[in-house]
Amino acid sequence: MLDNKENIKTSISELGEFGLIEHLTKNFKLKNKTSVRGVGDDAAVISCSDEEQLVVTTDLLVEGVHFDLSFMPLKHLGYKAVMVNLSDVYAMNAEASQITVSIAVSNRFSVEDLEDLYKGIETASKIYDVDVIGGDTTSSKTGLLISITAIGRCKKEELVYRSGANENDLLVVSGDVGAAYLGMQILNRENQVFQVNPNAQPDLDSYTYLIERQLKPEARKDIPKLLRDLELTPTSMIDISDGLSSEIMHLCKQSNVGCNLYEDKIPLDPQVISTCEELNLDSTTIALSGGEDYELLFTIKAGDFDKIKGNPNLTVIGHMTDKNEGAHLITRGNTKIPLIARGWDAIQE
Ligand code: ADP
Ligand code: MG
Repeated sequence: MLDNKENIKTSISELGEFGLIEHLTKNFKLKNKTSVRGVGDDAAVISCSDEEQLVVTTDLLVEGVHFDLSFMPLKHLGYKAVMVNLSDVYAMNAEASQITVSIAVSNRFSVEDLEDLYKGIETASKIYDVDVIGGDTTSSKTGLLISITAIGRCKKEELVYRSGANENDLLVVSGDVGAAYLGMQILNRENQVFQVNPNAQPDLDSYTYLIERQLKPEARKDIPKLLRDLELTPTSMIDISDGLSSEIMHLCKQSNVGCNLYEDKIPLDPQVISTCEELNLDSTTIALSGGEDYELLFTIKAGDFDKIKGNPNLTVIGHMTDKNEGAHLITRGNTKIPLIARGWDAIQE
């Protein structure tokens, strides 16, 4: 109940996801000296020695909400569930070292199904060099739930929070954005065709990158390493799970700055451009609101630009401004429009 004396229930949608988290956790103050950072960043931070700190992050994936097993093979789901968590570790500029895996399973699933799920987890933990150190197993009446917790470590002075951006810092993104969302659109479309005509042979050649980004995303383990090699510590960082726009707003809010994002700088794969044309979608809207890209978004001091100049993995897409200027998209036509954090539901309107 939100401060009302009468017994009126508040709907969760009035607060939204982030408002709800803030509301539920606002009374929790950190009591222990070792709790360096609690709720509010990509991962919590715990001190473990004078030099090093641990980061901890957890994510829950629910069947029917986060994944659809009619086109998501269980092996891929296991792999993706690990990626989603490692991405939050890398977003702190940390190295991931351990994960725990918890599952709730309905009787619809066989042992072989769960072996597939765990094959994906095993592959991910090998490639990303993390140890599976525990978890929990229970039954479910509503399909499959998978929750992974990832633990990482980082030198104290190299940790990067969402809150460190300053006015005039450059806004940088790794890789490209928007493809994972379009991958889901294509898979949904093919799934509908399949329901009507199970013999239809889908021709997915023009969408291979999009589908791979949706079904087998890779967390950017290489970026914290690259930044270390370049002797560059970002001033703030976040991973892109919900869409560029929403993540930029998080950096702005927590760093107390505004932002100018340039539409013509947003990195898009050619398949994103061609598929947006085909589906009559605006590629900028997809990049801003699409989500699930698991790229890293960070800010650097303007003076560090030379260190990343020409790097094919990194694109400068804007700069931070005074808080009072707000967060804006500067369009190709040079119009300034306020950024709004729209979820991907908004794209379908
Ligand atoms: P991300 O998208 O990076 O995974 P989230 O948006 O899920 O981050 O969460 C934002 C912050 O809120 C994180 O610090 C997370 O640990 C915290 N958080 C999310 N849900 C809860 C909850 N139910 N109780 C306490 N903290 C939560
Ligand atoms: Mg995150």
